[in-house]
Amino acid sequence: MKRFPFLVLLALTCTILLFHVVSLSTHVRNPTFIAAAAPDNLTSKTPVAADKYTGKTSLGESDNLDDLQESRSNHATRELLDPREKFHFSPQIANWDLQREKWLQKYPHKRLTPQGRPQTILVTSSPSGPCEYPTGDYFLLKSIKNKIDYCRLHTVEIYYNMAVMEMGGFWVKLPIVRRLMLQHPEAEWIWWMDSDAVFTDMDFEIPLDRYDGFNMVIPGWDDAVYKRREWTGLNAGIFLMRNCQWSLDFLDMWAALGEDYGDNKREMGEFVAKQLTGRGDFEIDDQAGLIWLLISRPELRSQVFLETSYCLHSYWVMVAPRFEEMLANFETGGERWPFITHFVGCKFCSGKYNSTPMETCDHEAKRAFNFADDQVLQPYGYKHASLSKHQVLPISHESIDPDEMVL
Ligand code: UDP
Ligand code: MN
Repeated sequence: MKRFPFLVLLALTCTILLFHVVSLSTHVRNPTFIAAAAPDNLTSKTPVAADKYTGKTSLGESDNLDDLQESRSNHATRELLDPREKFHFSPQIANWDLQREKWLQKYPHKRLTPQGRPQTILVTSSPSGPCEYPTGDYFLLKSIKNKIDYCRLHTVEIYYNMAVMEMGGFWVKLPIVRRLMLQHPEAEWIWWMDSDAVFTDMDFEIPLDRYDGFNMVIPGWDDAVYKRREWTGLNAGIFLMRNCQWSLDFLDMWAALGEDYGDNKREMGEFVAKQLTGRGDFEIDDQAGLIWLLISRPELRSQVFLETSYCLHSYWVMVAPRFEEMLANFETGGERWPFITHFVGCKFCSGKYNSTPMETCDHEAKRAFNFADDQVLQPYGYKHASLSKHQVLPISHESIDPDEMVL
């Protein structure tokens, strides 16, 4: 019973963590669509028949740009009501499960990690160019170091994207997740993580066994998404997708809602603003698109696991100021601290349209990074002098037994 208040607090943290600052306006997410050619590092070499980004759309036969725009725009309006038909990433694939299974039978040793877990690739991304905010690139460096450390410790592969693909801005997660599925048939799961999210529990492992029979895992609440239709009922900053045909189809349907042509994104933004609670009418974002897809296609829900039992995403405002308290609590038998801390509303790279002053974002992000880094440094015998200091101090580390030194 002594733990009760802390458990309540943790549940509250994981609940409020989905808070997604509504005051962030149209400007916050700043998508730019660039119909780029296929990045060199993502062409060919897959077991897919035609693995080349052709830019071909499945929508129009016309080569005339105006006709195409018009036919797309009409299509977009239909799409508002039924995101079933139109958009397909290239190359289109219909029998991925069979192709992948054949490949795995050829290379059976690639199915699992040496630790016997399903192969997983973590992917994150940042803009192609340098950050405008002076410490933005430094933040991104720390953010990727944090992810590399976690992946190294848990035998997860990692991929860092800086290319603008078929979709840009925060929609880039869709084409890159898809590409990784095709390029890496050995990977059972592709795990997306925003650049503004950091691991804060370096020990925790995702309980993949729990998701047999599911193809997507994302932090969120059934009632908030399906009953109350809240824009913040789930958070699309961190999710896992199984490498299978269902996921490829799902990504097509999701992307259809954020495809950029004509006035589509603004129209869709107005549409979802009416459908969802707590969202303004600015142009559509990936999170709103995902929620609308799940609302409008109920048959998809059975494959999507909305995870609340641990903090796959926690809202930094509730977590970052309390690391010392949470550590002390854990050390005296209390609950563990959140797995991932997400700095929603902090625009580290642009420095623009934050919901919180950049100084606060920077300060708390430094604490989160150092809190995780202490867990990485501990086996090496060091610890940050305090969570807001760069300086590290030696800690007593008496064992020189190699068995105990294994990280
Ligand atoms: N992102 C990207 N390129 C961009 C903009 C965004 O790769 O030009 C990625 C980046 O990983 C970022 C994620 O998309 O963390 C989602 O955007 P953001 O975190 O700003 O959205 P929020 O979580 O605040 O809603
Ligand atoms: Mn984010």
